[in-house]
Amino acid sequence: MKIIWVITLLSVSLTACSIGQLNSDEETNEEVPASSTQQEQPEKTNENQDSTKSEDDSSEKGKGNQAEDKVLEDGIVEVGDPASNQVVVNKHRKLPSDYVPADLTVPDVPFSFSEDHPKKQMREEAARALEELFDAAKEDGIDFAAASGYRSFDRQKDIYERYIEIYGKEKTDTFSAPPGTSEHQTGLAMDVTSAQVAFKLEQSFGETDAGEWLADHAHEYGFIIRYKEGTEDITGYMYEPWHLRYVGNEISSDVHYQAVTLEEFFGFHPASE
Ligand SMILES: [Zn+2]
Repeated sequence: MKIIWVITLLSVSLTACSIGQLNSDEETNEEVPASSTQQEQPEKTNENQDSTKSEDDSSEKGKGNQAEDKVLEDGIVEVGDPASNQVVVNKHRKLPSDYVPADLTVPDVPFSFSEDHPKKQMREEAARALEELFDAAKEDGIDFAAASGYRSFDRQKDIYERYIEIYGKEKTDTFSAPPGTSEHQTGLAMDVTSAQVAFKLEQSFGETDAGEWLADHAHEYGFIIRYKEGTEDITGYMYEPWHLRYVGNEISSDVHYQAVTLEEFFGFHPASE
């Protein structure tokens, strides 16, 4: 009788241990990217601030944030949760014109230009992840330079209108976003480049060592290459091997290994429809 009791107690406590272990591993995987650095503290603080929201997001996975979206008169949707890491912004889904991320900061990485500029900024969590990505690339002998991150609604408006004057609307719409529809306004995007393409943003970057490294490893740091080759009809934009979008580690690997666009991942209409 005594022996049975001991065995029962043992197995109960073992089960409890394994459950405890599993939970803490899951939490670690979600909160700490593959190669964490001493800079993980601000990231954690940031996540803690909207921990309720993160839980909601993961249970809503696959549905995007459609429940909170608002359809505007012209059929375009104004996204309901612009501050979500998983927000999908494209020509059908725009950000509120007054949306400015609350936690913009300049990542501690090399830039392709030296002057102070708002486009150096990203949101806190994305900035820390970008630093980790740059550090890991450097260890592999790849030197990236960041070229363009946060862009305000008004700045995007100026850029878009200037391009239309030069190239006309049809051509401009293949590479530049109407104001409110640029991922750069989310503070979650950064264009990166390297010396191999003279620090320009051009498609040949995708064939360089740096571009290939980015395509292979970005997902390990919570980023995706948002506008991949052959997805123009879905994303509405030409191939941009330099455009990194932070989505968080929860889904960056899924999007990478499923080889899908964000529109497909969340089940949104292709941008061309
Ligand atoms: Zn970009």
